[in-house]
Order: sequence, then C-alpha cells, then structure tokens
Amino acid sequence: MAYIEFKNVNKTYQMGEIEIKALNKTSFEIEKGELVVILGPSGAGKTTCLNILGGMDTVTGGKVFVDGKDITKYKDKDLILYRRNNIGFVFQFYNLVQNLTALENVELAVQLCKDHLDPKTILNKVGLKNRIDNFPSQLSGGEQQRVALARALVNNPSMLIADEPTGNLDPETAWDIMNLLNDINNRGTTVVVATHAKDIVDKMKKRVIQIEKGNIIRDDKKGGYDSEV
Ligand code: ADP
Repeated sequence: MAYIEFKNVNKTYQMGEIEIKALNKTSFEIEKGELVVILGPSGAGKTTCLNILGGMDTVTGGKVFVDGKDITKYKDKDLILYRRNNIGFVFQFYNLVQNLTALENVELAVQLCKDHLDPKTILNKVGLKNRIDNFPSQLSGGEQQRVALARALVNNPSMLIADEPTGNLDPETAWDIMNLLNDINNRGTTVVVATHAKDIVDKMKKRVIQIEKGNIIRDDKKGGYDSEV
C-alpha cells in the first residue's frame, strides 16, 4: 500500500441551490519520500485536494488512506492529532504573526509538540541564521516564506503540504523556494506542493499530477508541463 492513497474522492460544495464539484472521483497514490506537484489553473481543485490530505477538510465521497489509516473516518480529535503529528503546512501568504520575530514565530509552533526540533537549527537550515530576530515586516517575501517553512518543519512532520508557496514571489525567489522544498524532500520528508506556475514545474522535473475542473487529466512521473509522455 502506498503512503498516501486517494480513492475515488469526491468533494461537492453546496452554495444555496448550486452544487460545485471541486473533486470528481479523484484517485492517486504517493509513495513515502516522494515530491509531487499538483498542477492546475485557479479553481481546479488543488486547495481542496491539499486540505483533505492535511485533515483540514472532509470528503463527500471516497476514501483517503495515509500510512494505511483511513483519515476520512477520523473524528475531530483524531484529525487534530493527525495534523499535529504528521503534517507541516505552508501557504501562499506566509500567515506569520506580525508582532513576533522569526524565531518566536517558529517557537510558537513547538508549544504543543513534545518531539520537536530546535527552532534555531531549523531557521539556520532554511538560510535565515542572521535574521532570526527580525519581524516579518523587516523580511522580504522569500525570507518570510522561509520562516513559514521553518515553522512547518520544526515539529518534524512526515509530510509537508505547500499550497501555492511561490504565488506571491518573483520568479527568482520562487525558484529558490522550490529548491528549498527539493532539499527538504531530499532529507526524507514527503512533499506535496500545489501550483499553477507551469514554468517552475517544467524546471523541477518532478512528478506532476495535473487537475482541471476537479478531474485528474495527467499523472506524469517525469515532470514537465504539457510534455510528451
Ligand atoms: P484551486 O486551489 O485549484 O484554485 P479550489 O480547490 O480552491 O481550487 O477550488 C475548487 C472549486 O471549489 C472552485 O470552483 C471553488 O470556487 C470551489 N470552492 C472551494 N472552496 C469552496 C467553499 N468553501 N465553498 C464553495 N465553493 C468552494
């Protein structure tokens, strides 16, 4: 059994009279230690997919197995523990606490977790050794995203989920962040990253699962975008 298994996952949002099908019988498998890019235009279902995988949203049909356990059966309490012990999240807009320094933002994340890593060491690993006492407003977008990555990694999650982590960055900084995700993956963390940035995906040469309107239209182990398979 693969580390992550989506089996015929449906997600429908009800907006009054209108039904929005965000995921339509979505099935894929991800092995432990893989880096996978979920690629698709805005509204394709990428965030829905990541939120379900991260235990932040529920399915309307189908099953999701992580490490052999069906997380769609989890109650709220199980989901809290699942998120706390397994998942690191990174978002497009960093979501840092503005009146805390880089170090304090990372320290905040360790308070509920016994098995955490040293916040300073992690900030060092993401290249922020000399910026730990800076507030978010004193850091560039790329540096803020590095703090967010350190915060996601400090509890040593088995899986890092990144939703459009480069969406707010210039191309060069975006590439730096993707390289950092690659490094993190090379150290053993499973990484699932959603993006609509086809140029970055082209360069990464990693597995690509492409979604459009809630349907997987391509699952390419070789990476690239619209490449010949
Ligand atoms: P993406 O991340 O690829 O931009 P999303 O997963 O955010 O796509 O959205 C997929 C579809 O589901 C879109 O049509 C979006 O409008 C809809 N959707 C997402 N979240 C909600 C919600 N909470 N309520 C209603 N519709 C939603």
